[in-house]
Amino acid sequence: MYEISFYICHSQGVTRVRQATVYIDSQALQYNLNRVKQLAPTAKIVSMIKANAYGHGVKDCLDALSETDAFGVAHLEEALEIRALGFQQPITLIEGVFSADEMAISIEQNIEIVVHHQIQLDWLNAHKDIYIAKGLKVWVKLNSGMNRLGFKFPEIINIINTLKADGFTCVLAMHFANADAENHPLNEQQKNQFLDVKEACDPIMASCCNSAAIFKWPELNFDFVRPGIMLYGASPFADKSVQDLDIKPVMTFTAEIIALNEIQAGESVGYGSTFVAEQAMNIAIVSIGYGDGYPRAFPKQNYVAINGQTTRVIGRVAMDMIAIDVTGLNARLGTIVELWGENRLVDDVAEANGTIGYELLCRMSNRPVRKKL
Ligand SMILES: *Cc1c(COP(=O)(O)O)cnc(C)c1O
Repeated sequence: MYEISFYICHSQGVTRVRQATVYIDSQALQYNLNRVKQLAPTAKIVSMIKANAYGHGVKDCLDALSETDAFGVAHLEEALEIRALGFQQPITLIEGVFSADEMAISIEQNIEIVVHHQIQLDWLNAHKDIYIAKGLKVWVKLNSGMNRLGFKFPEIINIINTLKADGFTCVLAMHFANADAENHPLNEQQKNQFLDVKEACDPIMASCCNSAAIFKWPELNFDFVRPGIMLYGASPFADKSVQDLDIKPVMTFTAEIIALNEIQAGESVGYGSTFVAEQAMNIAIVSIGYGDGYPRAFPKQNYVAINGQTTRVIGRVAMDMIAIDVTGLNARLGTIVELWGENRLVDDVAEANGTIGYELLCRMSNRPVRKKL
């Protein structure tokens, strides 16, 4: 539907269409990948591009990430999309396969799997010879206290040693529950358990660092690091900005002013009339809403940027429109408004919205037009 109307607008020579645009900055993505290389110079990089590359669009990101060693995704369809686009790097399914059928397809397409459950070991063993012959690695997941996925200590030691004895090449894998927290006691427990298993299964390759851990614990980089959010230029930490971390926002999300209104003291704006002007002011209506992925429920004041200057969002966010305060600003019809990007960080929008940058990025709708820079 959307593509058809877009096509009609263009084929009939209409150049002005609704402006809601997501720009993807390939150079920023490459800059951030280089930051991973600086921080983890001896590890191979498994770039996490699950959830449509955290909402950035897999295809554009794959092109920009040609220097990565491998990719990580959450399920088989995401992996097959990478292969369909012609990329041959190793891919890891971070939750493994969900059925015996998926195991056969994965192997056929040279996709590596995590195993975190006995049934996945059974499916794997049914294809043992071909899996080994293709040189695919088995990522064996340790549950060291996050209690999502994984084999527990000490059972995992037997599982790994059996896989190794059977000829599999294994990677010990683990995920921190609190890598973004300064002094959480579970961090030490998870680290120590991981190191104990690694030692008991020596020699074995190892991988336990997401973005936060890459920044915090260089001593845990080991063989593979798994950066996600830092590649996209958002911060994994509540108390550290992208400037502190020296990474660059990859996505710029913009819309434009489609109407200007002057309102008087006592007049309200938008659904529910939740905003009432205390004095005369100029407001602008911007072509963006929750139908595009812009968050509606911010418990704290949210802001946008115009010409690099921030200004408040007022009243409720609607499906297709928001209102902003442009009193005293040089705002006209067609003026570009940055919802997030360099001047208004997605992390700050997320903070006003009681969530994290990850969520806002992942839940972008496909209504905005996407452009690669
Ligand atoms: C998503 C994910 C990552 C990346 O995490 P970030 O915090 O985005 O860097 C790493 N490892 C696993 C297993 C994941 O699921």
